Amino acid sequence: MPDLSDRVISITGLEDDGWEVFNLAREMKLNGKDIIELTIGEHDDTTHSLILEAMHNSARNGNTGYASVPGTQSLRQEVAKRVQNRTGVYTTPNNVIITPGGQAGLFATHIALANQGDAGLIIDPFYATYPTTLRSAGLNLRIVKTIPEDNFIPSMDELTKNAKGARTLLINSPNNPTGTVYDKATLLEISKVAIDNDLWVISDEVYDTQIWVGKHISIRSLPNMENRTTVIGSMSKSHAMTGSRLGWVVAPEYVVEKLSDLACNTNYGVPGFIQDAGLYALTQMPDIEKIVAEPFNRRRKIAQKIVKEYPDIKVHPSLGGMYLMIDIRATGLNGVEFSKALLDARSIAVMPGESFGNSSAGHIRVAMTISDDKFEYATRSICSFASSFTTSTN
Ligand code: PMP
Repeated sequence: MPDLSDRVISITGLEDDGWEVFNLAREMKLNGKDIIELTIGEHDDTTHSLILEAMHNSARNGNTGYASVPGTQSLRQEVAKRVQNRTGVYTTPNNVIITPGGQAGLFATHIALANQGDAGLIIDPFYATYPTTLRSAGLNLRIVKTIPEDNFIPSMDELTKNAKGARTLLINSPNNPTGTVYDKATLLEISKVAIDNDLWVISDEVYDTQIWVGKHISIRSLPNMENRTTVIGSMSKSHAMTGSRLGWVVAPEYVVEKLSDLACNTNYGVPGFIQDAGLYALTQMPDIEKIVAEPFNRRRKIAQKIVKEYPDIKVHPSLGGMYLMIDIRATGLNGVEFSKALLDARSIAVMPGESFGNSSAGHIRVAMTISDDKFEYATRSICSFASSFTTSTN
């Protein structure tokens, strides 16, 4: 039998994929066990019915053919307006390409900005697909370590050490999995490293509407960054449209042109009725982002209050996004051991911190994606379970 390409063979399998607990939970669920799942970033609410109606109407009105590959002019225009209003950076439709979700944008930008074998930086802890996305695009990974005590913010030293001779730097604020939000000083430091080392910055801002403390700052808006930054946006998280696969990349015009060439040869863009639904949501539903985001802020506050009652267990501030990073190192277990034991003893599934890199070892990531009362119950249960180890081992 002929072989597969080295590229696809090497995508996965190099790090612990971290999905063991998730798969185990799904299997237990299939076997009829009642499991509380706090694993993936899927809202507990589905896409708003008005957005679905707009999608339906668009399709029923005949918008079922091939859509313009870089995106419909009206949606590109709206995204450009939104980005310009929120960041102050002059942005036109030619700076925007509509993609099938942020994930497609992450892959396409790495393909467009780096050559096969170039080094690309990601910051640990990272969103689980980052290493595999870079590898799929042919890059060599360089992992920038952080520490929990710095709230997982990368130090200049670590960044500089890794930046020499690299081509790209992928950042993510608000961050999945940590909830860290980079402030201006951090972003200025990152931009200095990028400029000094002539790096492209790929800024994953898919959680930009979920900020609980402070303000979202796009690195593209900092001095001398516009021409070396591509921003990944998505309606998955902001509008609870994960299944619609609707996102975008904002980039210099000549990059967008090439991304459009690439899209012609990969996904051929996003269905027109999905784009119309996105346009409807962006133009006709001004409050929807707040409505979609608010439950996560509420639940974060619920969790912070509960965790305070357990002095050995610490929760990271979670300044944005839909996850909590809980430090369970005091239990003496690592994240994988703890998550397995938790699933077994309490039927609660969380993601081990190790699924997102070594910097979050000894942590668990909790997705705040169930109703408030269930979430309160689950958080209490996680904390009491964790403290049963600390009290017995102390
Ligand atoms: N970036 C981050 C940090 C994410 O958490 C996700 C989804 N969980 C994505 C990108 C991709 O999102 P989508 O493709 O649904 O837009």
